Formats: sequence, C-alpha cells, structure tokens
Amino acid sequence: RLLWKLPTSSRHFPFIPANRPDRLTVSSVSEVDSRVNLLGLDPEGVKSWCAAMGEKPYRAVQLVRWIHRFCEDDFENMTNLAKSFRAKLAETAQIQAPAVLDCRYAADGTRKWLFDVGNGNAVETVFIPSENRGTLCISSQAGCAMGCLFCSTGKQGFNRNLTTAEIVGQVWTAERTLRREAGITDPNDRVISNVVLMGMGEPLQNLDAVLPALRLFLDDNAYGLSRRRVTVSTCGLVRQIDKLAASVPVALAVSLHAPDDALRDKIMPVNKKHPLADLMAACRRYLAVAPRDFITFEYLLLGGVNDADAMAYRLIDLVRDVPCKFNLIPFNAFPDSGLKAPDEDRITAFAQILNSAGIVTTVRRRRGDDIAAACGQLAGEVKDRTRRAERLVIQKEEAADFFAATKKGSER
Ligand code: SAH
Ligand code: SF4
Repeated sequence: RLLWKLPTSSRHFPFIPANRPDRLTVSSVSEVDSRVNLLGLDPEGVKSWCAAMGEKPYRAVQLVRWIHRFCEDDFENMTNLAKSFRAKLAETAQIQAPAVLDCRYAADGTRKWLFDVGNGNAVETVFIPSENRGTLCISSQAGCAMGCLFCSTGKQGFNRNLTTAEIVGQVWTAERTLRREAGITDPNDRVISNVVLMGMGEPLQNLDAVLPALRLFLDDNAYGLSRRRVTVSTCGLVRQIDKLAASVPVALAVSLHAPDDALRDKIMPVNKKHPLADLMAACRRYLAVAPRDFITFEYLLLGGVNDADAMAYRLIDLVRDVPCKFNLIPFNAFPDSGLKAPDEDRITAFAQILNSAGIVTTVRRRRGDDIAAACGQLAGEVKDRTRRAERLVIQKEEAADFFAATKKGSER
C-alpha cells in the first residue's frame, strides 16, 4: 500500500522563490522522432509493447514502476533492466511529458504549471496541498467545444484533444517536480494523493485518451490511487457517463449549475441535447458502480442568475432520487464575461438551504480552492507564451483579491 505522507516541506514550498523558473528541464526531441512515448501507454499497452520487443511481462511491470513510481525518464538509470534492454529502449522509446512553459506557486502552496501542447496552445495544471491530501487538477483538452457561458475555456472554442501522454504527463511532471523539491526518494511516499479532471476541457469528450490515463492513475505499479481518489468532472454527457461506468468507474462530479432545463439551456448548451431528466437518470445508473455511494454535484453560483433561495429549493426536488453531495463554486470572474460573483450572504444562504435538507454541501471558499475553480476557465491559445503565463497568474490573483474584497465587504 502506498503512504500519502505529505512532507511538511512540500506544503508551503518556502524555499522556492516566487518567480524562479521551474527546475525541471525537458529534453528536446525532434519533431520527426519515431520513438514510442511510453507515457502514453497504459499497463496493458506497455505489456503488449514489451511483448512485441520480445520481452517478458514482468519487464513491463518493472518499466511501469520506473516511469510512474520513480518518475524516471532516463533508461540508463533503470538499473534492474538488462543493459541490452536499456539500449533497445533508448533506441525505440522515450518518456516525454509536455514541455513546461511556466511554473508558479501561490502563497498558500497552490502550485500551477503551464504546459506547451504545441501549435501555440497551452494547458494548465494546478496542485492544491491541504492538511491530509495533495490534489492535482489536470486538463483533458486544449480548449473545449461545450461552450458554457460562464467558462473562459468554453468561450475560446475547441482546439484539440490531449493525448494520453499529455494527460499523464501532467501528473508525472507534477509528482516528479514536487518530490524532487521535497527530497522524497521512497517511491511509496507520494505527494499527489488525488487527481481531479477539472482543468481545461471536457474529459468525457476525450474518452479514448482519458481511459488509458485513468487506468494508469489506478494501477498499483503506477500511481496507485484508489477509484475514490480520482474524479472525473463532466458537464453532463449522458452516453459517455455510461461508457465511463462500464470501463473505469472512478468518482464522478457533475456540473449542474441550474435546477431546471430553462435556465440550464441558457448557460450550458449541452443541456439542449441532454436535459436534466436524462442526466439525473445517468447519475442514478452510475451510482451502481461508483466508488462511493454518492455523486458530487458542482454548482456554480452566478450572482443574480442562479443563486436565489428558490433555486436551492428546486435543486432539492431535482436530486431527490440521487444520493449526492454539493460543491458550491462562487463564480470566478473574468473580463467580458458579463456575469458576476454571488454576494457572500447568498453563498451562505444557499449552502444552508441544501444542508438543512440533509444534503452535505461544501463551498470552495479558500484561496487555493478559488484558484482550482478557475482551473477550468483558462484560455486555450497562447500567442505570447511568457506574457500569457504572467497574465494567467495575475488574472487568478485578481480573482482571489476580488473574492477577499467581496468577503470583507460583506463582513462590514
Ligand atoms: N468540463 C468539465 C470539467 C472542467 S470545468 C466540467 O464542465 O465539469 C471544471 C469546473 O469549473 C466545472 O464545474 C465548471 O463549471 C467550473 N467553472 C467553469 N468556469 C468557471 C468560472 N468562471 N468560475 C468558477 N468555476 C468555473
Ligand atoms: Fe467545457 Fe467544462 Fe468549460 Fe463547460 S465548464 S466549457 S464543459 S470546460
């Protein structure tokens, strides 16, 4: 069993100057490189690849352990592999995560990476350390085709699906960087204890790449996370929810954001195709295989749009037959969204109504959580990478300051 011991030193990163570039260097590979990227293969994939190379299945297990447990990318260092196999690996394979464009951390230990995914696109990954866990929020697509009104990723449109290597590479890079900085060498001590697919993109629109990634997150020789520690967040793609249930049923979070079809149609175009009754039925089906006996509903609170008491009462009706928990997310404002964050008293009242009905409800209040909530709203295109990376951090800090100010205002 793995131990999720978060070393004290990794909680606040006090030894890393704020604007210091990331220590990790990503070796460059030429664009015509034909070597297979092992980061993109799930455990079965590595096994097949090894078999094709004439290697025994236990070699595949050793490889998976070196890559994902030790976060090793140099075949030379994989000392329990035969020298001849190592030479063959160096010739035909590589371990290549997307390049890090930028890496920053917030005062509360929240850490953000900006990854280059080619053609001027970048995606973001956020690490949120807390008392007893280290959560990594990862992206699944560059941009998003779902067009939710309140989401800046959605407003940018769809660019492309990330590959499995790009999805896994986010976790691999984060774990490798954080453990090196904290001086962790024991592969059983892991910094990342939870992975949530709540960054850019709609993970269920990219199942072909997401499923192998999930298998690696769960594999004991790779990231060794239990199904309840891996969460897929979706805007509500009904058929794909069933597919996830049938293949890798990890924890499910559903972005609800409205208690009725009329409002949800307006703010989430996906609702026109998959209305709430169908979505609730899919949630009930999912519960049969879910790692926990509840679904998490995310509910974005948009000031004056969906934050009235009446909306909370209608939500209670809507989810009557779906055991669930609610996670209220105050809207993270971005320029030209035309929407505003809810007043603090609305957040409290809304949570109170749901809680009183016996629905466990939490609010993403803290700064790190605010930044994580913003994780899904980042623009996909990066024209000027450095300046954009700076803008991202400034944008998030402004959002956090905005919430701090709102909170203070409502306390007065
Ligand atoms: N596509 C998936 C996962 C990525 S979005 C989904 O929609 O669930 C992750 C979460 O961030 C979603 O609940 C989404 O509604 C929320 N989100 C999007 N824009 C936001 C914003 N401006 N402020 C706060 N949360 C936002
Ligand atoms: Fe896509 Fe999720 Fe943003 Fe909607 S909220 S546009 S589904 S990333």
